[in-house]
Amino acid sequence: MTQKTNLSAGRAYLAIPGPSVIPDAVLQAMHRAAPNIYAGALPQMMPGLVADLCRVARTEHNVALYIGNGHAMWEAALANVVGPEDRVLVPSNGSFGRDWADMAVGLGAVPEIIDFGSCSAVDPARVADALRADTAHRIKAVLVVHVDTSTSVRNDIAALRAAMDAAQHPALLMVDCIASLACDVFEMDAWGVDVMVAGCQKGLMVPPGMGFVFFNDKAAARRQEMSRVSRYWDWTPRAEPELFYQYWNGTAPTHHVYGLRKALDLLRAEGLENVWQRHAILARAVWAACDVWASTGSLRLNVADPQHRSHAVTSLCLDSPQATALREWTEHEIGLTLGIGLGMAPPGDPAWHGFFRLGHMGQVNGHMVMGMLGGIEAGLTSLGIAHGKGALEAAAEVIAQT
Ligand SMILES: *Cc1c(COP(=O)(O)O)cnc(C)c1O
Repeated sequence: MTQKTNLSAGRAYLAIPGPSVIPDAVLQAMHRAAPNIYAGALPQMMPGLVADLCRVARTEHNVALYIGNGHAMWEAALANVVGPEDRVLVPSNGSFGRDWADMAVGLGAVPEIIDFGSCSAVDPARVADALRADTAHRIKAVLVVHVDTSTSVRNDIAALRAAMDAAQHPALLMVDCIASLACDVFEMDAWGVDVMVAGCQKGLMVPPGMGFVFFNDKAAARRQEMSRVSRYWDWTPRAEPELFYQYWNGTAPTHHVYGLRKALDLLRAEGLENVWQRHAILARAVWAACDVWASTGSLRLNVADPQHRSHAVTSLCLDSPQATALREWTEHEIGLTLGIGLGMAPPGDPAWHGFFRLGHMGQVNGHMVMGMLGGIEAGLTSLGIAHGKGALEAAAEVIAQT
């Protein structure tokens, strides 16, 4: 029997917004026999690993390490500083903001959501107004997502801090950087972030399974005021362990630790500013192509203002609901997997096909992004989806200028 010809043999490209492409060096670092968890290389590498993680987060404060995904980090962070009946203020522009608020509900807290829709950034002035109205200081924390991966909106965290300070409200500023850490510029200490959560499987390029909660002294003091904190989520022993065992509250995720060590080495060798710059340029190449497609077609970038676009994920809307067909085409015909639309379906149409996402986070370079854009162009052409011509030239122009 002969098979239908297709062009998908060879190395596949997973261009979804997490998990991201895993560098070969990280995979190779993980390929080893089970190490001893009580003595030797594994415990010895921990202090350096913690220091390098804090460098990536731009903080001189603390980090607690956990086995868990991003959702687990939402709960870990909240469990240390937010108790039952506490209020949390959640300015949101996507499904990840709403889901963090829902995690707070599960812990008995009471969220107040300010909805900024799905295409625009959080307006710090409206957050400040809500804090000023809370004269009794019942709001314990502001929960905000730096880059909401569903919509690809990026929020201005420094401006939010300034607005909170102007409102003279003591709430903690808690930021989800799961999609942005080591991709978009982020300065935990300089921006006055009290708590930050991250996972290992996006900008940090390690298979899913580890997460991190960074916290400053103000947040640590709030933790001490809590009447009780879950033993497992408590960040105190994890951040100041006397024993290796306490870093993880049990058995370490041994192979992930080796993978993360290698990923941090890669980031350090490239330089964090260069990593940010690489993501910024590649994102501009993606936007340039999308603008050309949109010029005479049915495709458009979800976020109009480039200042508020993620450098790691791009959400696209199609007037004709063929996003699923396009994703299936690129995956099956050329080995390129694009991200599904998430949290943008119009009410009453959960299977909406008018939205998809491109992941360009972590281990991505110029030829991968050009290949991704060329693959989308081929899919648009094959499926007869209207699009402007010249997208690849526009992207190449951006890359050529560097
Ligand atoms: C991926 C992501 C999450 C969820 O992480 P999981 O590991 O899937 O639980 C949360 N927030 C943001 C911004 C993300 O990008």
